[in-house]
Amino acid sequence: MQNCQGTGYVTTDLAFLDEQKQICEICEGKRFKEEVLTYKLNGKNITDVLAMTIAESLEFFEDKEISKKLQAMNDVGLSYLTLGQPLSTLSGGECQRIKLAGELHKKGSIYVMDEPTTGLHTSDIQNLLDIMNRLVDTGNTVVVIEHNLDVIRQADWIIDVGPEGGKRGGQILYEGTPANLKNSKESLTAQYI
Ligand SMILES: [Zn+2]
Repeated sequence: MQNCQGTGYVTTDLAFLDEQKQICEICEGKRFKEEVLTYKLNGKNITDVLAMTIAESLEFFEDKEISKKLQAMNDVGLSYLTLGQPLSTLSGGECQRIKLAGELHKKGSIYVMDEPTTGLHTSDIQNLLDIMNRLVDTGNTVVVIEHNLDVIRQADWIIDVGPEGGKRGGQILYEGTPANLKNSKESLTAQYI
């Protein structure tokens, strides 16, 4: 679509005002030429396909290569996104999970995550924990720096650094399994776990 460059929107830049975004009047937001829209796959044209959620498209596509990628998106908890959703509209957490989706099939890698639960809802934290476990189960190593107790509890090995932050931190207070952490007298985390 030439009028809107395939975005479905036309933006007008008015010097002193905010940008105005309007639905493209030529394609009516469908993003493609009439000619392109006549092509169909199992009764759906490209606009219909782009409007599908990941969950819906998992049922729609039979091609294995496509299904694999959709399944990964589903597994990182993004089943509600539509295929046509522009990347610029995704939240930081959603972008991170898309990155993770691309990693799920790999083996023997080491992942370092710095406070990955920051800004996530409780239900999303569970999703993230599932992904971490899956990475570990398939032969990867996941190193996580976290304050979140749910994440700490499900680690295989904990290194507790403290007792506080900055100058008053930096000491290793505990090293071992979550189960043994409870017996540690030095660790502050032990009181909360
Ligand atoms: Zn258009």
